[in-house]
Amino acid sequence: MQKLVQGLHQFQNKYFSSHKELFERLGKTQSPETLFITCSDSRIDPNLITQAGPGDMFIVRNVGNLVARYDQHIGSTAAAIEFAVVALKVKTIVICGHSNCGAMKAVLEPEAIEAMPAMKEWMTHASETSRLVRENYGHLEGEAKLTATVEENVLIQLENLRTHPSVAAAMERGELRIHGWVYKIQTGEVFAYDAAQGEFAPLTGPGVAPLDEAHRSRDLSI
Ligand SMILES: [Zn+2]
Repeated sequence: MQKLVQGLHQFQNKYFSSHKELFERLGKTQSPETLFITCSDSRIDPNLITQAGPGDMFIVRNVGNLVARYDQHIGSTAAAIEFAVVALKVKTIVICGHSNCGAMKAVLEPEAIEAMPAMKEWMTHASETSRLVRENYGHLEGEAKLTATVEENVLIQLENLRTHPSVAAAMERGELRIHGWVYKIQTGEVFAYDAAQGEFAPLTGPGVAPLDEAHRSRDLSI
């Protein structure tokens, strides 16, 4: 706790005092361009990895970065998606999974959450991921299997996202694009799903075009 309070002092004395105009503007309104949906995991810092500032991203976090199908569960995630798309008119939605995800480990080893009824209930929204991995990735083991689970889960949640009427309508109007990312904690790399290639590819790094150029030359959304 002491560490958090020290951080608050530091924020107010340094960052806030040098960005007063920004916070004055944000005090009145917000107009983020992106809805960022990721896992609750402490090791992911969406603003740090994207270098986005206050007001840039509307963020939804839950265990396993799950988006339940609209006809199966209306909860806080569905409400946040609707608000971001309808009220804030975000242009982009990113679903970002990550390496070494505890929720995805629970998909592979459900007995690990046997004593956690709320987790068990929530993870039913990953049942499609579980089925797909069981049927298609039985030959993999260890980290390779976990990585496949993390990636497939992001793709399934993107499909679930499309079942939300606000998302489907905005995509139909050409006003919204959705993207699937996987963040690798130990290297800082982000891999984006490339629909044309049917695989996750590095979004940054040597030999990869800057983001704007990448968006022009490749369709990274699905
Ligand atoms: Zn996670």
